[in-house]
Amino acid sequence: MQQGNIKVQTENIFPIIKKFLYSDHEIFLRELVSNAVDATQKLKTLNALGEVKANTENLKVEVILDSKKKTITVRDNGIGMTAEEVDKYINQIAFSGAEEFVQKYKDSDKKNAIIGHFGLGFYSAFMVASQVEIITRSQRPNSTAVKWTCDGSPNYALEETSKKVKGTDVVLHIAEDSEEFLEEGRIREILDKYCKFLPVPIKFGTRERTVKEKDAEGKEIEGGKESKVVEDVIINNTEPAWTKAPTELEDEDYDSFYRELYPMTFEKPLFHIHLNVDFPFNLTGILYFPKLKNNFEMQKNKISLYSNQVFITDNVENIVPEFLTLLHGVIDSPDIPLNVSRSYLQADGNVKKISSHITKKVADKLASMFKNNREDFEAKWEDIKIFVEFGMLTDEKFYEKASKFYLLKSVDGSFHTLEEYGSRIEAAQKDKNGKLIHLYTNDQKEQHGYVSSAQNRGYDVLIMDSPLSSHIISKFEQKLDNTGFSRVDADTIDKLIEKEEELPSKLNDEEKENLKPILESVVEKEKFTVQFESMSEKDQPIIITQSEFMRRMKEQQMAGGGGMFGQLPESYNLVVNANHPLITQILEEKAEDKKKSLAEQAVDLALLSQNMLKGEAMSRFIQRSVDLIK
Ligand code: ADP
Repeated sequence: MQQGNIKVQTENIFPIIKKFLYSDHEIFLRELVSNAVDATQKLKTLNALGEVKANTENLKVEVILDSKKKTITVRDNGIGMTAEEVDKYINQIAFSGAEEFVQKYKDSDKKNAIIGHFGLGFYSAFMVASQVEIITRSQRPNSTAVKWTCDGSPNYALEETSKKVKGTDVVLHIAEDSEEFLEEGRIREILDKYCKFLPVPIKFGTRERTVKEKDAEGKEIEGGKESKVVEDVIINNTEPAWTKAPTELEDEDYDSFYRELYPMTFEKPLFHIHLNVDFPFNLTGILYFPKLKNNFEMQKNKISLYSNQVFITDNVENIVPEFLTLLHGVIDSPDIPLNVSRSYLQADGNVKKISSHITKKVADKLASMFKNNREDFEAKWEDIKIFVEFGMLTDEKFYEKASKFYLLKSVDGSFHTLEEYGSRIEAAQKDKNGKLIHLYTNDQKEQHGYVSSAQNRGYDVLIMDSPLSSHIISKFEQKLDNTGFSRVDADTIDKLIEKEEELPSKLNDEEKENLKPILESVVEKEKFTVQFESMSEKDQPIIITQSEFMRRMKEQQMAGGGGMFGQLPESYNLVVNANHPLITQILEEKAEDKKKSLAEQAVDLALLSQNMLKGEAMSRFIQRSVDLIK
């Protein structure tokens, strides 16, 4: 037996490994199973090259939990190791990797040091084990089996042993403080998280059983060889959809893979994007566009990052742009560095390229959907819109592409690109300065009166009712030449789009001055500013408007953006139609009570049309109406 001393500067690295990786102990299993998978893949390669002769039909990895003996065994029938290889790969190379890690991080702040995932490899076993054995037999000809034992100190033992089957068993004797890993449910959960899509079958079992060799008909052979098997189940899908070529897959395959990823989600995704890049970096994956719920924050962190089919993380914040974190799905790239901190990830060139590549792919997919099947694109638009808006607001390149397929929806139900819509309203909706005014409503029902008065003028009205509408409108105004947006209730119809010609006013200034205090006396003075406009006789006698500017300021303040003006008060304009006969009637009425109640009635009607007449004021209005009809 060979006994040795792993050459180290640090007295004992394992307590440090333990301390640093505290929250991530479970990754030991990912590391060991990945090593086992690698060993089977290596065997395949060497077999194909003719370097070894082995049966590669039945490659697999078994994870065996024995809670009585307090061990977890990770077994593979892969390439195995000779004594020299154990010495080289485990005692020297693997160890130096682990040591480097410790050297690098032992002095840094615990919290910031290794947030995320550190590919610590084989030595991560010591996070949970008080003793680790490797029992391995190489597939190379004339190999003998060896056993390596180490208890987490720099001392190890390497001795010959007997092992019939070629391959490697890594046996962990679970430490007292890690007994959670002796629970079947916990191991199952970890395997499901990290190993669900590994490329060789992963079996998980809790018991070993001896079976006799069987003949071709499946009958046990008398006196035949005995071998140990685990009663187990395969826990993984070795060929997940993203590893296949898009041409091999139908829409149903994508949908069923979506269900495999998110068994608790019942809705089908709206569409998918299959990523397949091999230059300048390697990246495969499938991104799904989910049917978004109103609260789109809740849907984040649904993209999982894999490296060669090993799950790494579902926190892809720095790898995909923020607006794309609303997507679901899988990204697999061996080129994303996994063993580094987040801040490094942000600065990494490859990561940046991946991020902009994904953005481009998503924009291209949407553009081709728009081009190839506009009808279908329009049908999905309401679900996609908020995500496209989010992207346009946060990513200039995405804006450029998306501005070609962003759809404006008219109250008549028709959809138009920005360009198409410009032509549609050009004739009627240019103001006297040549500015093209887009009118919109954010609530067709509530603003019905305003919408129809705009329509009566021959104007078109858009529906802009997403939570990001006010932001995207500002963006459009900034990007599009000579273009403005006004909500239909922002001003009187004449003022919404100011034209050259103005109607003469029936009331003169003196009459307006007389009427003003009467109207002011029937509304809350701080909230309403009374002003006169000469509108058509056919327009309403009084309308309530809220300036586009003030409303946007208030909306942005409510959404948490800048409090430049402190708490903004509610303020409206009470716009009196100086040409309406009712207004003249109020002015000319001699009896003071009658005059006041006419004014109240006219104001209440205006409030009512804005859905602003509530409670006691509503009761008074009803009573007054009854009295007037009587
Ligand atoms: P990495 O996997 O990143 O190379 P590890 O510390 O996990 O680092 O493993 C070190 C080396 O030990 C591997 O590269 C491999 O050569 C060898 N090894 C580990 N586990 C196995 C195994 N199950 N079968 C064969 N070789 C193994």
